[in-house]
Amino acid sequence: MVRYWKKHPKKELEALLGEFADAGWTIDDPPKYYRVRCPCGDHMRWIHLTPSDPNYGKNALQWLYRQTCYTESEGS
Ligand SMILES: [Zn+2]
Repeated sequence: MVRYWKKHPKKELEALLGEFADAGWTIDDPPKYYRVRCPCGDHMRWIHLTPSDPNYGKNALQWLYRQTCYTESEGS
């Protein structure tokens, strides 16, 4: 897997993408946003590169934790 998101300009969002990757999610690199896709194939969302909402990363992480297929240990 190519981990281009490792050099995300925002540390908080870089860590956020890392959380998705650790949970076994696939991270795509479209032109404007990152797209994250879950292991079971039923869940996906976009991750903005430069969100204006200061709580964006936190909210996205909470969203990840709410997904029914989320398991903390998977993908490590
Ligand atoms: Zn899922």
